[in-house]
Amino acid sequence: MFRREMPPEETRSGWLIRMNDEGVAPDTAGDGFLERVEPWPADALRLGYWHDEPVAVSVEAGDADANTTPWPAAREWLATISPAYSELLATALQVVRWARDHRFCGRCGHETRRRLHEFAMQCDHCGLRGYPRISPCIITLVTFGREMLLARSPRFPPRRYSTLAGFIEPGEAVEAAIRREVMEEVGVNVGRVSFFKSQSWPFPHSLMMGFFAEATSRRIQIDGVEIADAAWFLPERVPELPPVYSISRQLIETHRGAVATR
Ligand SMILES: [Zn+2]
Repeated sequence: MFRREMPPEETRSGWLIRMNDEGVAPDTAGDGFLERVEPWPADALRLGYWHDEPVAVSVEAGDADANTTPWPAAREWLATISPAYSELLATALQVVRWARDHRFCGRCGHETRRRLHEFAMQCDHCGLRGYPRISPCIITLVTFGREMLLARSPRFPPRRYSTLAGFIEPGEAVEAAIRREVMEEVGVNVGRVSFFKSQSWPFPHSLMMGFFAEATSRRIQIDGVEIADAAWFLPERVPELPPVYSISRQLIETHRGAVATR
């Protein structure tokens, strides 16, 4: 399991995740992405411990050799690995991007340095300390009795429908974001909301907070921009759904299970 404790600064070996702009390297056995490496590359970023052994991530140049197979994309890995591996990989993806994007202070423009005992970039010129950005999102299954409101974005594969989602805005409470997003996207009023679970979604740094939301009105009016179509579905007659590892699918399947015997 992944333990969120920073290995000592002098740690130079253990598990290593190798990635580039396109993907994550498979290990030599070909069934995972963790390799024991000694020593780690000089620019390796320490992440914590994987089963009590230090683990780090390193980024390699994006220019793939034309003769080698491209590394599988992070999304492909997340579709197949267990939740414990997903947590580790999501952490690695977000820390790598954050370290790359915060090399200079956003306040005074001087170069930052990485703090050794936590995920933080320190500006020694003005004192600003920057932490990895995490963007909270709501994702919600709107229900009306046994029915589920599912919608499709213009970006989805053909025939795919999913739950509604959106970013929480500055100053906004989570439950207010749910009501606003549902109203904006499908024009439906929401009454009671209840928390389901959350899931890190590292594309690039979302934290999906899953909720069930009970509709108090049924008439759908789509916005036509973020949503191409939306409809009420009975649990036994659903369209093509998102992949099983997504929190969206878990919301849908949990509701279907709960109302199956009614
Ligand atoms: Zn500064």
